[in-house]
Parts: sequence; C-alpha cells; structure tokens
Amino acid sequence: MIPLAVTAFVLGLAVGSFLNVCIYRIARGESVIFPPSRCPGCGRRLGARELIPVVSYLRQRGRCRGCGVAIHWRYALVELLTAFMFVVLLWRFPGFDFFPQAFFYSVLLVVFFIDLDHQVIPNRLVIVLLVLALAVQVFRPVLPWGNALLGMLAGGGLLLLLAVVSRGGMGGGDVKLMAALGFWYGWQQTLLLLFVAFVAGGLTGIFLLAAGIKKRKDPVPFGPFLVMAAVVVGLWGERILHWYIRW
Ligand SMILES: [Zn+2]
Repeated sequence: MIPLAVTAFVLGLAVGSFLNVCIYRIARGESVIFPPSRCPGCGRRLGARELIPVVSYLRQRGRCRGCGVAIHWRYALVELLTAFMFVVLLWRFPGFDFFPQAFFYSVLLVVFFIDLDHQVIPNRLVIVLLVLALAVQVFRPVLPWGNALLGMLAGGGLLLLLAVVSRGGMGGGDVKLMAALGFWYGWQQTLLLLFVAFVAGGLTGIFLLAAGIKKRKDPVPFGPFLVMAAVVVGLWGERILHWYIRW
C-alpha cells in the first residue's frame, strides 16, 4: 500500500503542475497544451529542470532563474494539494475507481481556483465534468439512472431558483456546475452538498464582513464553497447520510 500511495503522491504532483497551467490559461481562453510554459516575468521558456513540481520552486527559492521575478507560492500549494488529494482518493477509492475520481476532483480543483480568481466557472469545465459523470454512469454505474437525473434536477433546479430570486446573486456558472455535481452524486448527497456549501459560505461571509475584509455589496464567489462541499460529500457523504438516517 505504501508504494502505491507514494506513486499516487508523485502522480498528484505532476498532475497538479498541469492543473496550474489550466487554472492560469482556461479563464484567459488560452490553450492548455500549447505553447510550453514560460516565465510570466521575462517570457523565457522554462527548461526541464524548472518544471519539477515543488522541487524547482524550493531550489530556486520561489524566483525565476532568468529574471528573478517572484513565483507565487500558490503554484507549489496547488501541486501539494493535488498530491495529498490523490493519496486520500486512493485510500477512499482503491483499484480502478481511483482514476475517474482523481479526474473528477482535479477538474473541481481547477474550478475552485478559477472562480476564486475571476468569479467565473468556465462552461468547458462543467462540460468535462458532465461527460465524465455520463461515462462513469454508462460504464461503471454507482447510482440508478433515476437518482442521478433527480440529483441533476435538484442541484441545478434549486440554484436556478435562487439565481432568479436573488437576481444574479447566484451566478449561472454555479447553477450549471451544481447540475453536473447533482448528476455525479445523486439527489440525497446533492442536498447534503448544498447544505454544507451554504453553511460554509454563510459562516465565511459573516467572518469576512465582521473582519472588514469584504463589504456587503462585494461579490463573493460561491463556486469554491460548492467544490469544498463536494469534497466533503465525496469522502464522507455516505457515512453522514447513514448517521443522519439512524439518528
Ligand atoms: Zn523570468
């Protein structure tokens, strides 16, 4: 199990490095494949030695080797986060199921940071999630189809209602993301997910207002809370629901 966990960790570092590229480029409408990575400071193309996740960052003390411009620590954080996520997913979903799960949560990680940076959830990411959920549903179904469709309806429908009532307080991107998540989790876990997201979002909002970091009218993206809640539900959703039903 330990060699497998180490493999998952290293794979996570490499994937995380690619997710950084996705986070930076997708919101700007650029290709994630081409051109190869360049320094945002001097535009110099990065060599193989500068592309090793986390290690390059530490060895270069967080600076470009050419121009010395500071590289944001978040690049290394995303790589580490992905690596830890892969180890936890392997533990929770051993065997082949690890791969669709790792793919799914990698896309969600990209959604998390893009929404945080730009207050937008790109349609192409939602489409990738939906296609993956459909593929899993066809080739390795976990849920009855009715449950998946009901989840999509419940997740997308509830947020759509909120978007209409709040007149844009809830964005269209959140509605579409939640429809895709609903299809993946089924209706019970979808309701749990929404509950967790609203509690986390509400508490964070109160904190940001009280601490004076945000004002009442400032937009706070909701996507990151949906993603955090999705991770909680993906890892512990069944257990929470069992506990709730027995209680
Ligand atoms: Zn540079």
